Amino acid sequence: MVGERLTDRLADFLARVSGAGEVHFVSAPGAAWLGYATDAIGRGGDLLALVAMEDREAVRAALRRAGKQGRQALNAGLLRADGAAVAATCRILDLAGGDRAELLFAAWAIGGTESAPSFPAAREFPVDGITGLPTRPWLLEVLERLTRREDAPGGGFALMHLDLDGFQKVNDALGHAAGDHLLAEAAARLVATLRATDMVIRSGSDEFALILPDAASLDAVAPVARKIHSAMQRPFILAGSHLHLSASIGIALYPEHAGDGRQLFRCADIALTAAKHAGRNRWSVYRSEGGEESSRRLVLEEQMYDAIQNGEFEMHYQPICRTGSREMEGFEALMRWHRPGHGAVSPAEFIPLAESNGLIDYLGNWSLRAGCHQVARWNATWNAHLRISVNLSPTQFHQGDIVAKVREALRESGLPARLLSLEITEGTLMRDPDATQAVLNELRGLGVSISVDDFGTGYSSLAYLKRFPLSCLKIDHSFVRDLEGDANGLVIVSAILGLARELGLQVVAEGVERESQLGMLADKGCDLAQGYLLGRPLAAAEVTERVERGEWRVAA
Ligand code: C2E
Ligand code: MG
Ligand code: MG
Repeated sequence: MVGERLTDRLADFLARVSGAGEVHFVSAPGAAWLGYATDAIGRGGDLLALVAMEDREAVRAALRRAGKQGRQALNAGLLRADGAAVAATCRILDLAGGDRAELLFAAWAIGGTESAPSFPAAREFPVDGITGLPTRPWLLEVLERLTRREDAPGGGFALMHLDLDGFQKVNDALGHAAGDHLLAEAAARLVATLRATDMVIRSGSDEFALILPDAASLDAVAPVARKIHSAMQRPFILAGSHLHLSASIGIALYPEHAGDGRQLFRCADIALTAAKHAGRNRWSVYRSEGGEESSRRLVLEEQMYDAIQNGEFEMHYQPICRTGSREMEGFEALMRWHRPGHGAVSPAEFIPLAESNGLIDYLGNWSLRAGCHQVARWNATWNAHLRISVNLSPTQFHQGDIVAKVREALRESGLPARLLSLEITEGTLMRDPDATQAVLNELRGLGVSISVDDFGTGYSSLAYLKRFPLSCLKIDHSFVRDLEGDANGLVIVSAILGLARELGLQVVAEGVERESQLGMLADKGCDLAQGYLLGRPLAAAEVTERVERGEWRVAA
């Protein structure tokens, strides 16, 4: 059965059609594959006229169902210009949602075609449901193969990494259906702009990777970049209105910039970052003399893969204590990377890198599981009810499977849900308020609580603070540091405490280093605090020692 997984190829045929099969758009390579000029079956044509007679009814029914029930899959014969039928696996996706069906029709030849790129073997990889494009795992596989060069003829190629500027704003403002529509349209434009032998991959939420097998030099790649750039600048028409997006593109060349696929991908990513920093809406080519900053980043990103295998990551636990009695209520789990020969790398540095190289998923889930396990063990040993606070990065939170991961971590550790708190920042909360609320509700449904980390440093709307099911605000270090001397720190901390009281939220003060700070916090009615004064983050074994020596006391 054809399900979520399809073949490894970009669809041979890609069209956008109405629920009745009226063609709105056909990709040029798709039309060429069947032997037609794009104009011949472009706007206004009938998709069903391209379907073999015996399969027409089935396709018609699938189109109708797609608008109501979502994605459909079936096999059907497609008619070539010369009259021959090609057996194809077809998928139909609803791009618009609701009643005005706007469908994406994608087809893959069964058994291969001449136009299919020769490199990647027919293996099963997930295909992105919105654009019909292959996704990141496929990209890495193709890069790996192209740089091994056993099956492909010699010669280099270009890798482009493209990011849609301003996509997130559209998505937040107009909703997911509109966002999905834009992505599908952007994907279709990319496919239409490139040659059949080029590859387009959806590499991230609003990111695409393009592999151009024949463009190994700057001279060859520049005209393509210009073409893509202008294709993306044409207005996107969404619900009748014109919308302007643009694209930032990072380009890396093989073998000039890197000798292996993973490294090449980093280079393209670094070039993309440079394009964005230079003001977006432009393309930039990787420069190896990109400064120490980016080469350190490259080295760290690369080493992270090995570091995981070598066990260089470790969890540390920092006590969260009552301001009055100084007894511990729980811990915050903080990740550490001990890089041999270089000491510890701060999570403030490596977490953002892990977000961009895809390892956050692995590391974040590990920190969640490790934290739950460790505290469940301590609670059993000490007959206590200590809580654990785990940080979630924006990517982790918005990835879609966070609820399942939390549920699994609780199940396998046996930790009661009420003892787990998840820390997210204001930026994470505000990124997509509707989606955020849905996830938060589900997490609350599990019984876990939510803390807002570094509160006061980001932007969050007070209305949302009230609307979201939150339990705790963590006052950022910077305000605690400013408690003494100049009066502003005190004013801000008092205001946050007042706000929290109104909203029925707990408060933890972060970064408490001095007795005087702790005293002021306790006076102002802040019940919980965390900081070097009360205890530094330590490895689990050291925490156990402190508790057993009576240096750190567990709250009853
Ligand atoms: P955060 O969640 O705000 O963590 C508190 C940071 O303050 C920690 O830095 C902690 O070591 C530090 N700190 C604690 N007490 C004091 C103090 O008295 N004075 C000062 N100056 N600093 C104090 P750390 O461990 O370097 O972590 C930095 C950030 O990295 C964290 O900020 C968190 O956002 C992120 N992070 C750490 N572990 C993880 C993790 O497992 N997953 C994710 N997604 N992010 C993590
Ligand atoms: Mg935190
Ligand atoms: Mg914090």
